[in-house]
Amino acid sequence: MRDLLLRLFPHRHPTGLVEIGAPGRESPVIVTGNYTLTVRRMKRALRGRDVHLLVADSGGINVWCAAGGGHFTHHDVVSVIRTSGISDLVDHRRVMLPQLGATGIERRYVADKTGWDPHWGPAHLEDLPHVLDRAGRVPVADRKVRFGLRDRAEMITVWALPMALIGGGIGLAFGGPAQAAAVALTMVAITCAVFALVGRVPLSGPGRFVTLGVVASVAVGGAWVAMEAVTTTFSSRDAVLLGVAATATAGLLAVDLPGTTPWYPSAMAKDAFTVELLSESCTGAADCVTVCPRGVLRMNGVIRKVEIVDPDSCIQCGACIVQCPENALRFRRADGRVVEPETIRTTRLNLLGSRTIEVSH
Ligand code: SF4
Repeated sequence: MRDLLLRLFPHRHPTGLVEIGAPGRESPVIVTGNYTLTVRRMKRALRGRDVHLLVADSGGINVWCAAGGGHFTHHDVVSVIRTSGISDLVDHRRVMLPQLGATGIERRYVADKTGWDPHWGPAHLEDLPHVLDRAGRVPVADRKVRFGLRDRAEMITVWALPMALIGGGIGLAFGGPAQAAAVALTMVAITCAVFALVGRVPLSGPGRFVTLGVVASVAVGGAWVAMEAVTTTFSSRDAVLLGVAATATAGLLAVDLPGTTPWYPSAMAKDAFTVELLSESCTGAADCVTVCPRGVLRMNGVIRKVEIVDPDSCIQCGACIVQCPENALRFRRADGRVVEPETIRTTRLNLLGSRTIEVSH
């Protein structure tokens, strides 16, 4: 619970080898980042298994954010493989990498530098046991990110708690306990509603302001009615306070809520990027298909090339571009300019989800 409440902040687990169960010379080797919450969950998910877990330095940040921000790269993976002594402990050379690290970890670089055979694991660590049962083969469904009830509940906790504290404080300062409770509950209601709606209504682009406005209005209306029912001291001034707090909550959430979800591109990106496939360069390696968390790409077995089948689902993470050995994928900006693969590999994403890039004409 403590890790969950502090989820927004980096929290470092020691790097190196963690043995789960009683791993032997044929046991699987799995890499993850050194975010404490992730390591704990890996241990829980793999309880009853015998696994060599290599905890690489991701700056104490979760795998996806760290890789996208350039804090978790192939250098960190190579380092933990070389320094952990794992080569002396196993007879095989297969290592499973976290799929959501594919924006920062170049799989081929790890192979070249270590002689190991890296392959991608599932998008969600909860799927690790049945992937291990399949000898490391990841079903297509397990490559896609989900945003299930538990994930939504976690994000609500992360966002609603600080907002409720801030709103409650303001309510207390300008009203009293009843107003503090009303404002805090309104903020929690807005946050719950927004995360329940992720993937169902627009939360990116200009449409997000409409969504958040409607949600805030409904929450304020509900809170007002509730407070009228339980107290006779609730005035129109209090309603104004509620409205201001709701607008502030919606405004804060609108800053980059999309970028904190697995369903939308970051709202901080200055220009929309579209992933573009140069079919003539594609040799059908399909590394991109394996790492895409949104099922945008598919291998066409007939022509033995990759094709883009669901461009609207692209969240512009760049993982496919980073992994393509032929540079057959790239981003094109809304103004027509191209972002070359090498630029993506070099700059990654910064922590605000906005790319710092050079573009070619
Ligand atoms: S197609 Fe889009 S979502 Fe899929 S890996 Fe590439 S950039 Fe990410």
